[in-house]
Amino acid sequence: MKSFIPPQRTLMGPGPSDVSPRVLEALGRPTIGHLDPAFIGMMEEMKGLLQYAFATQNELTFPVSAPGSAGMETCFVNLVEPGDKVIVCQNGVFGGRMKENVERCGATAVMVEDEWGAVVDPQKVEEALKANPDAKIVAFVHAETSTGAQSDAKTLVELAHQHDCLTIVDAVTSLGGSPLKVDEWGIDAIYSGTQKCLSAPPGLSPVSFSERAAEVVKNRKTRVQSWFLDLSLVMGYWGGGGKRAYHHTAPINNLYGLHEALLILHEEGLENAWARHQHHHQALKAGLEALGMSFVVKEGDRLPQLNAVTIPEGVDDAEVRSILLNDYNLEIGAGLGNLAGKVWRIGLMGHASNPANIEYCLKSLDEVLS
Ligand code: PLP
Repeated sequence: MKSFIPPQRTLMGPGPSDVSPRVLEALGRPTIGHLDPAFIGMMEEMKGLLQYAFATQNELTFPVSAPGSAGMETCFVNLVEPGDKVIVCQNGVFGGRMKENVERCGATAVMVEDEWGAVVDPQKVEEALKANPDAKIVAFVHAETSTGAQSDAKTLVELAHQHDCLTIVDAVTSLGGSPLKVDEWGIDAIYSGTQKCLSAPPGLSPVSFSERAAEVVKNRKTRVQSWFLDLSLVMGYWGGGGKRAYHHTAPINNLYGLHEALLILHEEGLENAWARHQHHHQALKAGLEALGMSFVVKEGDRLPQLNAVTIPEGVDDAEVRSILLNDYNLEIGAGLGNLAGKVWRIGLMGHASNPANIEYCLKSLDEVLS
């Protein structure tokens, strides 16, 4: 047995994306205690950096010590109680996962379905709100990684609030890559991941809760069924005010990595990061179309960081991806669920959204397909 040395890949799939060298360096710094004052100082800074990334002043903003799916569960298990009704929008894989969460909380999911590749239709959401005046929450995916569709979060939140509902928003793929304004849009609960446009390793899930959502959690009638994700307990550790009580041992080095990734985003500036993703998407799009591929999502609804394109007629999906991986050290993503075997998902996320990657991806695809 020898040490594991991973191959040097270029990650242009649906995530994880290439981790920036600065973040990799930060991950290797000495591990210190999770209650060490130096570490606690870093946590305070991290909270401010996350508030910047989410464009929020929410006090309840921190990274859950587990991947994006745990951020999703944190939102659902804390806000949903048995017997509640939640309107869940599904236009790809991840809305389905939200439904599972609602049902496992003992609540009812009212599904609003849209085609895979389409955005969530606000009109259908409004109809569901009118038909279900007892609904408590509207949940939707802002950036659907399985298709590359970007829904209109601002409008959906407005509609939910008109009907006195809270909102739970999945921003795993949008945070840092496309416009997301938690306070301005009035989002109540939001979760993300570190492995997409933040270009840190997977395994942490930034979350943020509005005061209104925090009040709902405080006034629950039943105990949160998950001990690990119960916000009232986690906040003893992340809650600020200088006091920290042991809850779980934080993933210390991974948090160094996230801190560095957020610092990079802060240095670049949110608006600049969004503009860079958009600019590079346009360049990749032109190249992919020149190779004969077309987009799953209609123009105007596309995510710049996740490009889902149809596989050319007669091409063996798995074979091409395997040649790209083995001969070019390039990872692109396969289709998920309904789109398996029909599309490739090409990510341009965070650090990986750069001209050299676009050129390399187009050149490699051209060689393998010809
Ligand atoms: N939601 C969306 C939109 C995602 O793309 C993903 C992961 O790709 C998740 C949730 C789950 O995140 P994780 O795989 O980090 O648990």
